Amino acid sequence: MNDRAHCDVLVLGSGMGGLATAALLARDGFRVIVAEKMPRIGGRCSTMDYDGFKCITGVVGVETKGIVQELFHRVGADFDVQEAGAPHYLINGQICQVPSRGGMKHLMMAAGADAMDVETVMNAITGALHWRTPSCDVALGDWLRQYTSNPKIIEIFQALVSAVLFVNVNELSVHTYFEFLRKLKGIQRFGYAPGGSIRLAQSLARVVLDNGGEIWTRCRVNAIKSHKNIVRGATVSRWGKSISIKAPVVISNVGPKETARLAETGILDHSYLRELDQRMKPAVITALQFAMDEPLFESNHLLVTGTQSLNSVYQPTMVCPEWAPEGRHLLVAGSAPRNCREPFDGNLEIERCLADLRAVFPDFDSRAKLLLAGTFQGAWPGMHSLPGEDMDRKTPVINLYNVGDGVKPLGYTGLPGVVATGIDVAEEVMGRNKILTGAP
Ligand SMILES: Cc1cc2nc3c(=O)[nH]c(=O)nc-3n(C[C@H](O)[C@H](O)[C@H](O)COP(=O)(O)OP(=O)(O)OC[C@H]3O[C@@H](n4cnc5c(N)ncnc54)[C@H](O)[C@@H]3O)c2cc1C
Repeated sequence: MNDRAHCDVLVLGSGMGGLATAALLARDGFRVIVAEKMPRIGGRCSTMDYDGFKCITGVVGVETKGIVQELFHRVGADFDVQEAGAPHYLINGQICQVPSRGGMKHLMMAAGADAMDVETVMNAITGALHWRTPSCDVALGDWLRQYTSNPKIIEIFQALVSAVLFVNVNELSVHTYFEFLRKLKGIQRFGYAPGGSIRLAQSLARVVLDNGGEIWTRCRVNAIKSHKNIVRGATVSRWGKSISIKAPVVISNVGPKETARLAETGILDHSYLRELDQRMKPAVITALQFAMDEPLFESNHLLVTGTQSLNSVYQPTMVCPEWAPEGRHLLVAGSAPRNCREPFDGNLEIERCLADLRAVFPDFDSRAKLLLAGTFQGAWPGMHSLPGEDMDRKTPVINLYNVGDGVKPLGYTGLPGVVATGIDVAEEVMGRNKILTGAP
């Protein structure tokens, strides 16, 4: 016979989307269980120890002074993130910094663009931000080419969007790009968690536990249960046992496609399944992690232009030496394929990223020793959906929600997007509970 458990809210997955929702609801008095299949929490915001280096499972840099920090403040969680300052840029083989105001103009000038061209593009950007947002149907690359034919200018936008939004200029809708810029309100500030990105997950998990919630690791969700289109809970396996968890609200952090599979797709309406299939394209990326004795360059984050796939290089140990054994450095290089919608050859992408690193840093092989190389796709992608192509947080099954980076609000990416989904769903559940119980 199955073991049984029950709670007010069952959260499937302990990524930052699941934990943000769980922390908010636990603080509000809900009895929450979080079921996580891995032995460690945090999902793609976690840390793996490798030869004494704090290697990433996803998140490297954490946005500060934004929605993530606000969430931590709201639930009383410790937000231990060391500010990193603005990134540097590699343009035309030169490393340069941009001023906090007029950064885009500065970058285009650094690329050697003609002053008239720069002014035309800047006017178009100002118009799109403050006058009329261009149509959703136009890709950012095509929109830019109306104002400039200078490939160096396009390359700057390519580096920015592929590093931050995990998509290419020719695939990102210009509408989504300007929504992102609007939400950003200037230069993005970010930092690193000294104890590794997992510390952020642990900090939210502490709030869940301190407020009577439970986090079950090594606990795989096998099926989401519903009756007459209303969610009833899930069955999970833990320590070799099958457990049936009853819950009137289920919040899934495992990605919309996996949620649909667990919900036994036959019960989901066909238009929803068609939308899932046609709309949801994952953002696939490659990340290579290296050990070094000395930093390769004098900053913690370099955005790289003009390469075939490499877009950013992080040296988190310049800010948080704790990420490596004493006196050593960790380098994380990230790249995205030039066509996000085509089948992705992981090995080829790793080779391309390595070739770019060797071209940018001529003595790379003698200075950096490869620790881990990975392509992030399938169940562990860069993001479950490309920005602007997310699913709704509500599923067709009543009281079954999705949170995480497959359901981000427009204009959000990565961790801020994930946290925004957690806040949105938690507030909806709190509000509905008040309606149902008549609480003030
Ligand atoms: C290489 C890489 C670098 C990145 N860098 C950054 C960055 O620097 N900054 C940034 O903001 N974002 C970054 N991102 C994006 C960021 O990592 C993700 O957007 C975010 O962590 C996703 O969180 P989530 O809650 O949506 O999902 P996840 O973190 O994937 O959490 C889902 C959880 O569900 C669990 N799960 C899945 N199936 C089951 C099941 N059947 N039963 C139980 N549990 C299950 C998984 O184990 C996982 O723990 C990066 C991503 C990658 C891959």
